[in-house]
Amino acid sequence: MARTLEVLDSRGLAEDLLAQAATTAEVTLFGGARLDLTGLHSRYPFAMITPQTNVDQALGRYAEQHGATIRRGVQAVAVDQDADTVTVTTGTGNLIRARFVVAADGAHSTVRHLLGVEFPGRTVLSSVVLADVKLTRGPAGNGLTLGNTADSFGFLVPYGCHDSDGSWFRSMTWDRHHQVGDREPVEADEVEAVLTRSMGRDLGITGLSWHSRFHCDERQVRDYRAGRVFFAGDAAHVHSPVGGQGLNTGIQDAANLAWKIDAVLGGADDAVLDSYQKERHPIGQRVLRQSGLLLRGVTLRPAAGRWLRDRITPRVLSRPRIRDLVAGSFAGTTLRYRRRPGDHELVGTRATEVPLTGPRLTVLQREAGFVLVRLRGAAPIGTLPQAERTDQGPLLLVRPDGYIAWAGPADGDWQAALRTWLSPAAANR
Ligand SMILES: Cc1cc2nc3c(=O)[nH]c(=O)nc-3n(C[C@H](O)[C@H](O)[C@H](O)COP(=O)(O)OP(=O)(O)OC[C@H]3O[C@@H](n4cnc5c(N)ncnc54)[C@H](O)[C@@H]3O)c2cc1C
Repeated sequence: MARTLEVLDSRGLAEDLLAQAATTAEVTLFGGARLDLTGLHSRYPFAMITPQTNVDQALGRYAEQHGATIRRGVQAVAVDQDADTVTVTTGTGNLIRARFVVAADGAHSTVRHLLGVEFPGRTVLSSVVLADVKLTRGPAGNGLTLGNTADSFGFLVPYGCHDSDGSWFRSMTWDRHHQVGDREPVEADEVEAVLTRSMGRDLGITGLSWHSRFHCDERQVRDYRAGRVFFAGDAAHVHSPVGGQGLNTGIQDAANLAWKIDAVLGGADDAVLDSYQKERHPIGQRVLRQSGLLLRGVTLRPAAGRWLRDRITPRVLSRPRIRDLVAGSFAGTTLRYRRRPGDHELVGTRATEVPLTGPRLTVLQREAGFVLVRLRGAAPIGTLPQAERTDQGPLLLVRPDGYIAWAGPADGDWQAALRTWLSPAAANR
């Protein structure tokens, strides 16, 4: 999604990922309604379609190039913490001590279990089948296509990969009348039958390769912080894949948390880390609600409800303002963090699209830290990395994750805002 691509661009990763991915600017929903992403206020007015492993590998390479050590095959089996330290015991009995730990260990988080942190919520859909299918008569173009009946749905994502006997798609299918356990084998006939029914025509399956059956829960931990341990990604929140939000939300959790840990390790007040919960928990809640609403829309059963849904959705999404609001919410570009009373209205919004005279903001952000965006025509101020804006907007102090920490006039006290996030030494540097 656009906001994640912007975050990846702020680490110089977006272009390479896009070079090996397909993109789409359109999602077809109920009643022929189309969610058009081209109105997104972003350098990336589309969704990127790529195997998750490509994103994982790009992040892994980046982390290692910047000094991180990634230890594969090491299992956390115990976690203990005191006032200063967290100790993680590995499966081979080694102890790893750190001042903070990020539990990014997925939906079944071991760390969550070890700390006794609840994961309240429930199962919302079972026996969903994911498969790579080759179709001779798949949907044309590069859009994402949803088809559904009262008792089934099919969702097709094109890989943009064509053979002489068809094109490859990732399909997601569900049949209300075929509810079996996750371990039940997936048959090509089953996928074909549900796709034909939900799309209303025979798509001509000529191949089925990787496939999996799974169930979806909607759950979220109440507090993303447990002492010196922070929950991020699926360890903190899970929902159905409808809406494609999980990995996007997890990456943005990480972008929000990482620089705050760095700031506190550098001497900033520990309260900086409490803002992680304040900022990311409401976003997670919203993502669960949004994805849940879409899922319930897709699986709606009563004929009258379906009739209304198919009439209303296309009309609503044909209004550019509403369409762009919905698209921006899924793409993450319109999500904002709360501002405090007295803050400028821009505080908490992303600064990514502010027009600058030099390189774009995400290029400046490749050097870690805060960035100052000066008024048009203003001379450089202080020692922070900075740029000059080309429009008439205010002076901006931009956080390392691209969100506005402070906005105001040229003589405003942006240094006071900087001091709330960093140690005195780092803020006065
Ligand atoms: C069918 C499907 C489609 C999806 N489509 C999309 C989409 O289009 N867009 C999107 O944004 N998201 C999508 N998602 C969601 C996305 O895959 C997840 O949100 C994402 O993988 C979560 O990343 P994570 O790093 O939090 O957890 P995971 O990817 O689960 O990674 C957790 C890691 O922790 C490790 N680990 C676990 N326990 C331990 C332990 N005890 N010690 C050490 N390591 C441990 C695991 O080995 C793993 O490497 C989809 C999910 C599904 C199921």
